[in-house]
Amino acid sequence: IGNLLEIKNLKTYYPVKGGFFKRTVGHVRAVDDISFEIKKGETLGLVGESGCGKSTAGRTILRLLKPTAGKIIFDGKDITWLSGKSLREIRKDMQMVFQDPYASLNPMQMVGDIIAEPIYNFMKKNKVELKKEVMDLLEKVGLPQDAYYKYAHEFSGGQRQRIGIARALALRPKLIIADEPVSALDVSVQSQVLNLLKDLQEEFDLTFLFIAHDLSVVKYMSDRIGVMYLGSMVEIAEKNSLYLQPMHPYTQALISAIPTPDPRRKKERIILKGDVPSPINPPSGCPFHPRCPVAMEECLKSKPALREVKPNHRVACHLYN
Ligand code: SF4
Ligand code: MG
Repeated sequence: IGNLLEIKNLKTYYPVKGGFFKRTVGHVRAVDDISFEIKKGETLGLVGESGCGKSTAGRTILRLLKPTAGKIIFDGKDITWLSGKSLREIRKDMQMVFQDPYASLNPMQMVGDIIAEPIYNFMKKNKVELKKEVMDLLEKVGLPQDAYYKYAHEFSGGQRQRIGIARALALRPKLIIADEPVSALDVSVQSQVLNLLKDLQEEFDLTFLFIAHDLSVVKYMSDRIGVMYLGSMVEIAEKNSLYLQPMHPYTQALISAIPTPDPRRKKERIILKGDVPSPINPPSGCPFHPRCPVAMEECLKSKPALREVKPNHRVACHLYN
């Protein structure tokens, strides 16, 4: 199976303004040279602490943010620098599901119209077809037909997320980037929404980039998982390989913090020293070295490249040279 998405050496830097003249005094290296690919029909999970660049990466791939360098190849086409009409055209095929659907749902618009809008804009269907299409979508996401005539505030958090998903699905996209889609929901509702996403993936042949900080949610959803730290991809592997044999010291610390219900599998929790450094002035060499329990001299000098150390398991760490 081919790749739907290929990311090559992607960088997204934001300027930092300072001083009286608001000159650019530095850059936040939110995404600092990451490469990965997603196969058609696959779910790639992206994890890391807040501020590691995972949301920025997602938004840059959708071209909601401007990349600084690198390449975004979507469905065989280089979309890195598309603009105007050709960018609008590609947007049909890539949609986003947000953490807080309420913030992205117009409170003045009926839910039916919210979902119909992208279809109307892109496909120019007539009123009867349009309404049927929206009713179908409501059913697919498990909302009652009368949701059409209601407003977003009349729904619970989980139902609002279903509205957001229906809107994302409206144009039959190939790729959905979901950024923390359940982290604002009650735990009891989270699994319903996750299962809905899985069902829809099957039914609509969707490919997912699933961004979250909750490692158990990501484990449930993903085929492969990438771990980001301070704008870099430090490890990427098949789910089981990553959870059972994490290789990067940062991944090992993350995994060690997941509570295990089985007391026989109780493992030492690895506590990292210090905080995540500023992405404006990232550390030299390996970005993780100030906090790494096994850092070596080489780690201060050169940044380790992400390389394959086992089949389908890549890690960026000098320990594995
Ligand atoms: Fe630790 Fe060095 Fe590996 Fe970085 S490269 S994670 S500092 S051992
Ligand atoms: Mg985020």
